[in-house]
Amino acid sequence: MGENFAFLLPVVLTLFGLVFLVVGRFGNRAALFWGAGYLCATFGFLVPLAETVLPIPLVALSADAAFLSAFFLYSHALAMHFEGPRRVALRAGVAAVAYACAGAAVLIGQSLRVELFVNDIACGLLLTIAVVSVRRRAGSWMDRALLCAVMFVVLEVSVRTVVFFVMTRGVAMGEFIGSTYAYVMQITATIGALVMALAALASVALRIVERHRKAAEEDPLTGLLNRRGFEQLVSRNGSARGGEAAIIVGDIDWFKSINDRFGHAAGDAAIREVAAVLGALSWPELAVARFGGEEFIAYLPNCRLQDAHTLANTVRIAISERDLGGIGIDRSITASFGVAVTAAGDHTIHDAISRADRLLYLAKSSGRNRVVSSPADIPAQSGPKFFVV
Ligand code: GH3
Ligand code: MG
Ligand code: MG
Repeated sequence: MGENFAFLLPVVLTLFGLVFLVVGRFGNRAALFWGAGYLCATFGFLVPLAETVLPIPLVALSADAAFLSAFFLYSHALAMHFEGPRRVALRAGVAAVAYACAGAAVLIGQSLRVELFVNDIACGLLLTIAVVSVRRRAGSWMDRALLCAVMFVVLEVSVRTVVFFVMTRGVAMGEFIGSTYAYVMQITATIGALVMALAALASVALRIVERHRKAAEEDPLTGLLNRRGFEQLVSRNGSARGGEAAIIVGDIDWFKSINDRFGHAAGDAAIREVAAVLGALSWPELAVARFGGEEFIAYLPNCRLQDAHTLANTVRIAISERDLGGIGIDRSITASFGVAVTAAGDHTIHDAISRADRLLYLAKSSGRNRVVSSPADIPAQSGPKFFVV
């Protein structure tokens, strides 16, 4: 019964290892380490099945190497998943010392009991080092669940090995696979391996989904939100809040001439410079996006028209004073802005965006390098006299 059951765990671990390797091909490097770890563990559980045909010390030391490697790889996967400190030297040191001690227990002491104890404690320690290093980086509930699953494995490994070390006199070398220890280990390790693999798989999958969602909502040139990201965020936050909000739309002046005179690459750099100025704006729950080529938009919840106008003007001045020599543009650039606030009769935020757009047009047609939040901002001698906002 125990021996038949012994095949179950390697099969489960192999399947998880392969799934992790496939998932790793979607650009998640931590998954590759989880996968390699699970395949090492498979080997570790398979080796004892050969103890009737292979020399016992060889079986024991191969299994030890496989498990230490597996737990080293798991701990590495955790460090990568949470982008925490790797502590490679510390973990490699723990694994090396444990392997040396386990080797001495097998070859000199002929003690399976000591060998298993040393190895299991070291495996638990490798995971503990990783958990302690990354514990503050678990942001989502899934990440916290993963850390709990890992601690469950640490507990499983440590309690099992301590109980067996203290309560039993151990089993003779060469009788491992038929021992009660091996049987209990199969059951508890199966549960631990399943819990940790499922939690890791779910966390890795969430990371991949999150990365793709972010990429779909982010403008690659500036790192600001793109139009889609902006609309998603504003509809999420805006509908939850209700209340007044301000919209600032901005467009770089005479940008075609920047491209023509300094080249497209310098134009791109200029867009990034303007984005940096807008990105430095400070307002609670502010959302800033690149809405199109050289057009930007900012959403400021709970902001009055006058405050938004003042902020837009600060941005306008900062852009015009920015030194662009470093990006090969030997003159200053300017931008024009339209500012509007949401109003009682609006159906969606797009009503306010349309008003801000019309005011931006007014800012352009009345001379550029200015902020318009009402037709009254236009100097009497310039631009259209009548403009319905
Ligand atoms: P205006 O003051 O009226 O806004 O004049 P403008 O020259 O800025 O006119 P317009 O907004 O129509 O032109 C925008 C130009 O921006 C056209 C396009 O070649 C350029 N552009 C759009 N996207 C990019 C980009 O990603 N990089 C660069 N370098 N140029 C871009
Ligand atoms: Mg422009
Ligand atoms: Mg434009």
